[in-house]
Amino acid sequence: MTLIDGRPLAAAIRGETEAGAAELRGRGLVPKLGALVATDDPATAWYVRSIAKAAEQVGIAVEQVTLEGASPDVAGTLEALSARGDVHGIICLTPLPEGLTLAGVAEHIAPAKDVDGASPLSLGRLAAGLPAFAPATAQAVMEILAHEQTPLNGAEAVVVGRSIVVGKPLSLLLLAEHATVTVCHSRTRDLPEVASRADVLVAAVGRPQLVGAGYVKEGAVVIDVGTNATEDGGLVGDVDTAAVEPVAAGVTPVPGGVGPVTTAILLRNVVTAARAAG
Ligand code: NAP
Repeated sequence: MTLIDGRPLAAAIRGETEAGAAELRGRGLVPKLGALVATDDPATAWYVRSIAKAAEQVGIAVEQVTLEGASPDVAGTLEALSARGDVHGIICLTPLPEGLTLAGVAEHIAPAKDVDGASPLSLGRLAAGLPAFAPATAQAVMEILAHEQTPLNGAEAVVVGRSIVVGKPLSLLLLAEHATVTVCHSRTRDLPEVASRADVLVAAVGRPQLVGAGYVKEGAVVIDVGTNATEDGGLVGDVDTAAVEPVAAGVTPVPGGVGPVTTAILLRNVVTAARAAG
């Protein structure tokens, strides 16, 4: 079994991004990410700070727009950011105030600036095979599989989780690479049986260590998207890595697998969007 470390791949992507940002800055164009925050959730604040720090290191500016109050104008603010020439990428952090969904508000992000593929327009374009940003996490999974030279053409891929931010877009990306894709969710009957058909198994559930040895076919590649906080302040994935280790050909660790690649890709998308705008 190989532990698939995402950090060297993330570093390589950051290197590309830094070079791209430097080239744009040389032309007087500073790539900028607008980050809308409409919550006082400390985990969200921590996440935005970590993105801002990573962005700064590669030469990308981040402008945080914080909305307060019971009914902030999230849609209007996203439209205003979309209209600004100096903002090239936009993300809308969750959680959102009650009554709002990410998909509902994200349709107010211009598709060309939707660097985390949150808008239903981006998802629709992806489904139609048109150019679009996919959610960075889904892109990260694909990038890891490509880096590991995992064959996808004709392979059985099982994605556990059907969320609009991970499972659904990832299933479209796998399909575009000619995998035979099965998408599982909380109503799937006999999940271990379905999962153990997979050559490529992706867990994007949010249930600590749900995926054990009985879910994994001998020689499968297992990608763990899950990030579950532990009581001692740590992080654990959806895969029981120790149990899966003897069976799988490779498994991504949590932390240090999909997460760092996701952040690197989000920032690369900002440079791509800035380049297209300039
Ligand atoms: P989500 O919106 O809560 O979706 C979870 C999915 O898992 C749903 O489709 C749900 O089914 C399914 N599910 C729940 N319990 C299940 C079970 N026992 N068996 C089979 N399927 C089950 O979560 P998400 O936003 O997609 O995130 C999933 C995980 O990935 C979370 O741990 C999250 O923190 C993590 N994440 C990581 C990154 C990263 O960059 N590493 C980025 C985003 C998310 P139903 O649809 O039937 O409810």
